[in-house]
Amino acid sequence: MKSKKKVLEILDKMEDMFPNAECELYHRNEFDLLIAVLLSAQCTDKLVNKVTAELFQKYSTPSDYLKVPLSELERDIKSIGLYRNKAKNIQSLCEMLINSYNNSVPESREELIKLPGVGRKTANVVMSVAFNTPAIAVDTHVERVSKRLGITKEQDSVLQVEEQLMKQIPVEKWNLSHHLFIFFGRYHCKAKNPQCNDCNLSLDCKFIKKKK
Ligand code: SF4
Repeated sequence: MKSKKKVLEILDKMEDMFPNAECELYHRNEFDLLIAVLLSAQCTDKLVNKVTAELFQKYSTPSDYLKVPLSELERDIKSIGLYRNKAKNIQSLCEMLINSYNNSVPESREELIKLPGVGRKTANVVMSVAFNTPAIAVDTHVERVSKRLGITKEQDSVLQVEEQLMKQIPVEKWNLSHHLFIFFGRYHCKAKNPQCNDCNLSLDCKFIKKKK
């Protein structure tokens, strides 16, 4: 397991590589972000942004999403995987925001995960990006990169990865580290064909040592 000092050095190197790491999902406010993150499950941010560029022109508030029949919303997000389920969740979620949360997005994880289609990862993204509350959302990139670098264990569950990262990283760096892991995993340490031949973290990497 890496020391806290080593993890900070790794984060510094990632920041040198990606000084502008931030949320890449297009959004104008916390409500858009919630919808975008919900749409992004098992789908690329690039495709979500393509869809939301038009979707957010048509729908701005929870009541906008409830003015149309479910079939129309399904058509509007059809190019996104699991669109039927996601459309259903969006309408139920909007109803709940109107009825239980005074038409606004709740700020706490406890309340966010009560919303249909919102799990811990989505809640963590909304908390950190929209409300600047410290949280580490563990997606596929965060999980893969933290395991390859030996910051978390191969057999750790997603929740264990999150807990381990929270232990190893100072709280004031949680939000930034989430984006750094994602950028590093998305653009450099990809699932297939990671750029190991040109990697300034190779000395810290368990994955490359195993390959050799
Ligand atoms: Fe990722 Fe390869 Fe770098 Fe290891 S050496 S961190 S697998 S790119």
